This record gives sequence, structure tokens and C-alpha cells, in this order.
Amino acid sequence: MSDDEDAAGGADDPSVAIVGGGITGLSTLHALDERGVDAVAFEATDEVGGVVQSRDVDGKLLEVGPQRLRLTDAIRAMVTDLDIADELITVDDDLPLFVYADGKLREVPRSLSAFRRTDLLSTRAKLRLLAEPLTDPIDPEETAQDAFVRKFGAETYTNLIAPLFGGTYGSDPAEMPARHALEPMMGLESRKGSLLRAALSRLVFSNEETPPAASFESGLQRLPEALAEAYADRLHRETPVTAIERAGAGSDAEWLVHTDDDTRRVDHVVVTTPAAETADLVEGVDAESAAALREFNYNPLVLVHLESAVRADGFGYQVRRTEPMRTLGVTWNTSLFDRDGVYTAFLGGMHDPEAIERDDETLGGTAAEEFERVMGVDAEVLHVERMPRAFPAWDDSWAACERVDLPEGITLATNYTGRMGLPSRVREARRLAGELSNALGE
Ligand SMILES: Cc1cc2nc3c(=O)[nH]c(=O)nc-3n(C[C@H](O)[C@H](O)[C@H](O)COP(=O)(O)OP(=O)(O)OC[C@H]3O[C@@H](n4cnc5c(N)ncnc54)[C@H](O)[C@@H]3O)c2cc1C
Repeated sequence: MSDDEDAAGGADDPSVAIVGGGITGLSTLHALDERGVDAVAFEATDEVGGVVQSRDVDGKLLEVGPQRLRLTDAIRAMVTDLDIADELITVDDDLPLFVYADGKLREVPRSLSAFRRTDLLSTRAKLRLLAEPLTDPIDPEETAQDAFVRKFGAETYTNLIAPLFGGTYGSDPAEMPARHALEPMMGLESRKGSLLRAALSRLVFSNEETPPAASFESGLQRLPEALAEAYADRLHRETPVTAIERAGAGSDAEWLVHTDDDTRRVDHVVVTTPAAETADLVEGVDAESAAALREFNYNPLVLVHLESAVRADGFGYQVRRTEPMRTLGVTWNTSLFDRDGVYTAFLGGMHDPEAIERDDETLGGTAAEEFERVMGVDAEVLHVERMPRAFPAWDDSWAACERVDLPEGITLATNYTGRMGLPSRVREARRLAGELSNALGE
């Protein structure tokens, strides 16, 4: 028994400790509270939200991480519970999204009528795409690029899929094995028989509406801040967890969660931190899992916030990777949420990992010059933000996930355990809270 263990434990100890005050950690705290499970959360920094950061820079509201969320039923319910529904801004989903290709913005087809009219794909490419149900299912051993080209044709891959899929993850589908990158898609394919059928049944036959894109008047960080306010009594800010240690043995094991000044003894630990931080925390529990977690590659990303007088309606654009440009895509915050001429350009990712090393002036200059080339109007640089490890790369390094095998009682829950994105994180938090509440009998 360690000295800490002596100090730990007591009537006040909660059943569950959550490491991380990002959206996964805080929505897990909320979902556990709804189920009457006693939990505590630790956040290393003085801010909550993790990568969800909304900042005021010279009077402009800038999103320094995600730009919007999809207002799923679960997020809407949480927003209502937190009494912040009147601060929501939702977006008309008919607004177009574009790909910049061959010197022009071309509409991404998100409905059958847009599919017919778009000039992003030739008639030949549209017909080839319709043959997808005749192709073999995705093979987990092929790359995402090979799977997409084989199923939808080279033109649709280059003009549509690579800019959207690659742009979303800041990645290169040629470097992403299907078994890591396309797992959810493979599930959909086996359930629906084909990806095209799945898309059509959603577009044509389903009564379900796609949840609208949304944000809050003061930015996306309002959601984690409201969660933190609601659970201020059990959220410890500026309290990094330094280690997790086993107390006891077998299935009755309990866990010691160490911080600089305290140790909590709990039945279950939920770890929502990025892979390298998680590795440090579980090193003493299982060194092999920690070593595997350290192998995961992440893609670096640079966000350049621009201000421009141009007024364009839409979500923004992704850039076709064959264009001679460094910009991956641009979100039109001003059109989406009336944000005072603000546009957010994304650079870097797997295609250009050195971007993160360039100085602000160079990055800002590139983003502004390429913006002007696409939009025809100049832009001022407001802010440059570097994210050295923005997205899981889902490349070959993720084969290491097969060697992560932590004991019962420690659950990892963040981008790399499910899907990325705020709706998926909230969904995983709710599922996990349900499982924990059953397991702990509360
Ligand atoms: C640039 C970018 C753009 C994105 N765009 C979108 C978008 O438009 N829409 C969308 O839905 N999703 C988007 N996403 C994805 C979405 O933001 C993430 O999936 C989600 O926010 C991840 O949340 P998390 O809580 O799992 O992890 P994180 O946000 O990484 O939170 C982990 C938390 O753990 C804390 N921590 C670390 N170490 C410790 C420790 N030792 N002790 C205690 N705490 C610790 C960190 O400080 C952090 O607060 C984007 C992500 C990025 C990076």
C-alpha cells in the first residue's frame, strides 16, 4: 500500500473520476449527474473546453478550435438543461458549401437537385459515382484513398471526397488505412448494403432532418463554460491529474487518482486526454498500453483568422489538393454567425506539417493572399494560432491501438476512442454514463 493510499479513501470519495474538462469530460459529468452517479472532474488548465476555445481578439469573436457544432437532440437537451437555449444561433442548412477547383468555387452537392446542377463533377463522374453499389465493400487493409477511388471513381475522389474528408481531418487519405480511418463508414456500408444507398436513404427516404449547424452568441466555448458553472462544486480547474494507480486487485480493484495536492480513491476513472497525456497517466498501470499510446501520430494545424469586407453566403470552402495552394479550407464565420467580417483559414495538416514552424507573418501572408485569389477581395490578418496536435492522423501509427489494453475500471473516451466532433463526443459521454451507472448499480 502506498503512502497516498493511506491518505486516500473516505466517505466523501466519488464513484467516478474524470480526467479532462473538455467537452467529453464535462458532458460525461453531466450525464453521470442525470443518472445519480457521484463524480468528480479534473482539468489541468484554468480554462474549460479543451480544444473548444472562443476568444475575443480586438473586439472580434474568434473560434480557435471547432467552428460550429451540429445541434443533435442530445446537445439540444443539454443546452436546455443548462438554460442557455436563448443564446443559440442556428444556421440555415440550405447555405452552400464549396470546393475551390480549377480557379472557381463549385458547390458541394448535398441534395439531389444540387447533385444534378453542380459543376464540381462531370456527367461522366456523376454516372461513375452511381455505380458504387456494384463495387466490392471497403477492405480494411486498403487505404482510404484506394477505397474511395475504387468505389466512386478518381474524379469524384479528387474533386469532392479528398477535399472534404482530407480537409476535415487535416489528413491525406492515401496515408490512412481504411481499418482506422473508415471504421464508421464500413459499419454503415454493411448495415445498408452500399454507401450510396445509405446516402440516398438519408436524403430521400428518411424523415430525419440533419441537425442544424449551430453556435452561441459568445461562441462555442459557452457550452463547456455553462457545464463548468453547473458543476462548479465537483470540477477542479488548474488541477492536473499526475498519475493513476491501482488500489486492490481483480474486478474489485479501486483506483487512486493523484493530483499535486490530493489523492482520490474511486471505482472508475474516465480519461479524456490526448494520447500522449493519457500515456503518462496510465504508465504505472500498464506500461505496454502507455508505450502504444505514445506511438499515435497527430496532425498539426494552423488557424489564421482573417477579416474581409467580402460578403458571401455559405459555410465556406475546401481547397482541392491539386490546386497550387497551401490553404486547406476556409470557414465563413461572418455568413454563418454574423461574425463581423471574420473568416477562418486552415493550413498545415498531413500535407504540410512544417506549416506549424513558419512565423506568423509568413502564415498570415499565405492565408490572406490565397483568400484574395479565391474570393477576389483582400483580407487583413487578425490572429494566427498553431495546434501542434490537432487531429488524430489515423495513419499506420494507429495500428498501435491494438496494443492498448487497460484493465476494467479505466475507460478512455476522447477523439481516438470513437469519432471526432462535438456530437460524437457527447454521444459517447452519454453511452458511457449509462454503462457506468449500470455497472456501479447507481
Ligand atoms: C481545429 C479543430 C477544429 C474542429 N472542428 C470541429 C467542428 O467544426 N465541429 C465539431 O463538432 N468538432 C470539431 N472538432 C473536433 C472537436 O473539437 C473534438 O472532437 C472535441 O472537442 C474533443 O473533445 P475532448 O474533450 O474529447 O478532448 P479535448 O478537447 O482535447 O479535452 C481534453 C482536456 O483534458 C485536459 N487535460 C490534459 N491533460 C490533463 C491532465 N493530466 N489532467 C487533467 N486534465 C488534463 C486538457 O487541458 C483538455 O481540457 C475540431 C477539432 C479541432 C482541433
